Amino acid sequence: MTSIAVDWTRCEGHGICARLLHEKISLDEWGFPLIDEPEVEPHLVKAARQAAMACPALALRVE
Ligand code: SF4
Repeated sequence: MTSIAVDWTRCEGHGICARLLHEKISLDEWGFPLIDEPEVEPHLVKAARQAAMACPALALRVE
């Protein structure tokens, strides 16, 4: 099973993750990510990895 998680010690609220993986991530009113369901469906794994690589703070983890 693949899942996503945010490292809150790193996340700076850039919001890029939500743009690249809007199926899984929305933003709160301050621009920080909200993940309702961390499990990533197989067809979204590639997008999840791309979102993790695009995060400037390296705060989005795909596990
Ligand atoms: S792109 Fe990275 S730093 Fe920006 S909100 Fe997402 S996890 Fe946080």
